[in-house]
Amino acid sequence: MAPHTKVAIIGSGPAGHTAAIYLSRAELKPVLYEGMLAGGTAAGGQLTTTTDIENYPGFAKGIGGSELMDEMRAQSLRFGTEIITETITRVDLKSKPFRLWREYEDADADEPAHTADAVIIATGANARRLDLPGEDKYWQNGISACAVCDGAVPIFRNKPLVVIGGGDSAAEEAIFLTKYGSHVTVLVRKDKLRASKTMAKRLLANPKVTVKFNHVAVQVQGEEKARGLMTHLRVKNTVTNAEEVLEANGLFYAVGHDPATALIKGQVDTDDEGYIVTKPGTSYTSLPGVFAAGDVQDKRYRQAITSAGSGCMAALEAEKYLADLEDDEPTLDKEQDAKKPESNGDTAPEYRSNPLL
Ligand code: FAD
Ligand code: NDP
Repeated sequence: MAPHTKVAIIGSGPAGHTAAIYLSRAELKPVLYEGMLAGGTAAGGQLTTTTDIENYPGFAKGIGGSELMDEMRAQSLRFGTEIITETITRVDLKSKPFRLWREYEDADADEPAHTADAVIIATGANARRLDLPGEDKYWQNGISACAVCDGAVPIFRNKPLVVIGGGDSAAEEAIFLTKYGSHVTVLVRKDKLRASKTMAKRLLANPKVTVKFNHVAVQVQGEEKARGLMTHLRVKNTVTNAEEVLEANGLFYAVGHDPATALIKGQVDTDDEGYIVTKPGTSYTSLPGVFAAGDVQDKRYRQAITSAGSGCMAALEAEKYLADLEDDEPTLDKEQDAKKPESNGDTAPEYRSNPLL
């Protein structure tokens, strides 16, 4: 028999650990799978890939990304969370209890490693990169995938900056960066923006922004010394093939994120970009007992603090679900089947898949 717990958390970023802190303080003895380089990222999630976090409340002088995650992990452990350093590679969310398989232990076994009455999916997302020549050398030394996180650092102040992408994120980030940079150039690979009309209008009207349509980046250039900073970007016009070198002390990728949802695909409703659909304002997914928190269900804000906040919501909602389960609510499955959600992309549907709502 596989070991059974009331609740399992998959993922180890701010969302997973916040859920773990709340659930362990509620004495529900959560098990958290932190992953072993799951999706190529260390346990602790995306913040382990960056330097200082300056916008997480409570740290007036900033705190290192890995240090912040070490603290969250220690806080989860302090209240009794069991942390398992393995990646969950298979789940069966159609059965009750839910069944989870670990990567090395038993990926191919019939019997799962673990069963749980409730599961919180907090597997996060990964910002897409472009694999440009020079990208690895200047990553975090001029190149960033998060303008809101990094835009205010001194190396970008009053300097020419470039954003790549034509969506809402690119528009929003470029406008945000005009507060810091001397000028912002946006490279759009096609002849039109994908961003919403309002955002596009705002972007094109901003006097500190130049949008270069039909342009792609081809090489990042910069100082040759160790930890040197980027200084220029070679770009290409995709219509004429003409290349030019732009002065650029900052390069911000806004070319989309990939949510880590392969694990639950086909079992929990996702939108057309793969994000888990949650009932707005909650962590409820299309399956009662399965909750989602953090970037895996949020393509809009994608911040440590919003992930932590949604982890708290998932924990409180899971706690309520488990309490009702113990009361043996007879209507649980009937109500779940009564109305299935429709995933249609951007807007999470207003549905009542969860009997607790
Ligand atoms: P993630 O941080 O994405 O972590 C999820 C983790 O769970 C994965 O990385 C992996 O380790 C684990 N995992 C995934 N799948 C499995 C599995 N199947 N089994 C077990 N474990 C699994 N935000 C800010 O607020 N301020 C900043 O300054 C800031 N800087 C950033 C800098 C960079 C370079 C990046 C990439 C992001 C930055 N962010 C910042 C955004 C912030 O990191 C994310 O919004 C936040 O980490 C999302 O948290 P999360 O809990 O959803 O999951
Ligand atoms: P999107 O997928 O909407 O846009 C990504 C952009 O990056 C597209 O313009 C795409 O080009 C471009 N791109 C992708 N790959 C490459 C590449 N290899 N080289 C160059 N360009 C590339 O992602 P966003 O993060 O912008 O938005 C995600 C979702 O979040 C959307 O639904 C958006 O509406 C929403 N959002 C809303 C905000 C708001 O309302 N204020 C703010 C931020 C996000 P192409 O168009 O050619 O495919």
